[in-house]
Amino acid sequence: MLAGAIALGLIAGPPVAAGKTPPGEPGKVATAVGTGGAAASVDALATEAAIESLRKGGNAVDAAVTAAGVLGVTEPFSSGIGGGGFMVIRTPGGEVTTIDGRETAPAAMQPTSFFESGAPLSFDAARYSGLSAGVPGTVATWDEALDRYGTDSLRRALKPGAKVARKGFQVDQTFFDQTESNVDYFDDVPSTAEIYLDPDGTPRDVGTMLRNRDMARAYKRIAKHGPRGFYGGPIAGAMAAAAQDPPVGEDADHVWRPGLMTEQDIGAYAAPEREPTRVGYRGLDVWGMGPPSSGGSTVGEALNILEGYEPLGADRAQALHRFLEASRYSFADRGAYLADPGYFDVPLSGLLSDSFAAERRSLITDQAADAGPVEAGEPRDNEGDPALVNTTETPGKSTTHLTVSDRHGMVVSYTFTIESIGGNGIVVPGWGFLLNNELTDFDYSDPAHPNAPAGGKRPRSSMAPTIVTRDGEPVLALGSPGGSTIITTVLQILLERFDLAKTLPEAITAPRASQRNGTTTSAEPAFIAAPEARLLQDRHGHAFTRATPDPPAEIGAATAANARLVFALESA
Ligand code: GLU
Repeated sequence: MLAGAIALGLIAGPPVAAGKTPPGEPGKVATAVGTGGAAASVDALATEAAIESLRKGGNAVDAAVTAAGVLGVTEPFSSGIGGGGFMVIRTPGGEVTTIDGRETAPAAMQPTSFFESGAPLSFDAARYSGLSAGVPGTVATWDEALDRYGTDSLRRALKPGAKVARKGFQVDQTFFDQTESNVDYFDDVPSTAEIYLDPDGTPRDVGTMLRNRDMARAYKRIAKHGPRGFYGGPIAGAMAAAAQDPPVGEDADHVWRPGLMTEQDIGAYAAPEREPTRVGYRGLDVWGMGPPSSGGSTVGEALNILEGYEPLGADRAQALHRFLEASRYSFADRGAYLADPGYFDVPLSGLLSDSFAAERRSLITDQAADAGPVEAGEPRDNEGDPALVNTTETPGKSTTHLTVSDRHGMVVSYTFTIESIGGNGIVVPGWGFLLNNELTDFDYSDPAHPNAPAGGKRPRSSMAPTIVTRDGEPVLALGSPGGSTIITTVLQILLERFDLAKTLPEAITAPRASQRNGTTTSAEPAFIAAPEARLLQDRHGHAFTRATPDPPAEIGAATAANARLVFALESA
């Protein structure tokens, strides 16, 4: 939760910023109210670019892709053309659809590709390597979204991002800290060090203008040739080479294992349009991202469990207890049943059925089930449930979420990432962008797991871009970074907003807790200090640990937009 670090924009109406601008973070406000369209991201330049696109008559998809292009430059450790993500789109006509821009594993990948001498690699050895890089899906996502739902060309949408790459942006403290956490590996790779480190090997100082001419060149090439300029030709060649033979310097002090990605793998990439997940919740429709993300199904299952409590709790502590327990059981099911649907028969309709939710709810008592992980249920028994028919109608982590809406009622909720902060640490030589380490999202140490690596497969994600509608009209849209805490962050914000009488900004700033089928619940310090935490411990038997990394000990830099009437917007 990072209420102070959100950049918001509104295109018309009173440009009121109802919130404070954090010192040293120009252009950022916690909340804003207005009409005519809105954008919320973690970066002021990106939000401005979205607003400018809307002002020029672009729709929400045009504005989202434009802002995403800027985020790829200014948030290069969290997002960009070297990674992937998921976009949920609500059209002005009221349809909801999604684009799956998740990275794919190279064709040669095997369930044991991350093993050496019979044992799985450590996380860092797996991550900082060519092996962890999946074929990036971001450029294909942008192209698909614009092609099907936008009005702008990719060429125009990439202009603001290319300009920021060329002219530069100012390094802030967060950027400095994110670089610092990677210095030990970035300084092994000359193409990475040249951009992100000073000549003495330390991070670029706060206040430095950081220019990335190579990334501007990559954007220019994609602008000129379209996605073929990325999935073929010199960029594809350079990506495959960087993954197969990591471009480390002679004095590198780590082993960078070679990867498997070929130009053929890159050329074969596609970002399919998929049905969203949908659950009904207290008269609302909650739309999310289906497999290979576990976001929509896990948020959806937990909401279905919680809908059976009316009200959610007799007091706030009981409501939060049920939230934590519903999350615990839903995570048990997520762990057992969520993977790329092209490789594993995901029992999605069972997971999202009311009858399965009732089975899981019946296991929840007034005491936390935290003696050990709870077991997964049997959603397959519920797949024939007639109630299902409409359910699917249609470690220090990174990632960024962007929410945009326009005056016509088009809404975009887009989460994208390169997985860890700094991805796999390899800037593709000559092209200025970091490769992702998304393939560490596979259960790579368990070759029999549904989410084990395989050629062409997409690793399971937790990203949960979400749109909420009522009677077909948009109510709000939200999403968050934070690895698997994304799911609990989105769930908690929805509950705070719809069950616990908070406004959207209050729901976003409420201290968060995250129960993911563990023996303890990780929580922000402010949550642990709140009176409910004592009741949760004493009355319901919960145990809390401080969220890491410490600092900031925060869970999820969520962004959201709240649509009311004709797009009066309020965001935090
Ligand atoms: N790679 C993660 C996922 O897809 C997101 C990265 C993060 O937010 O930590 O679930």
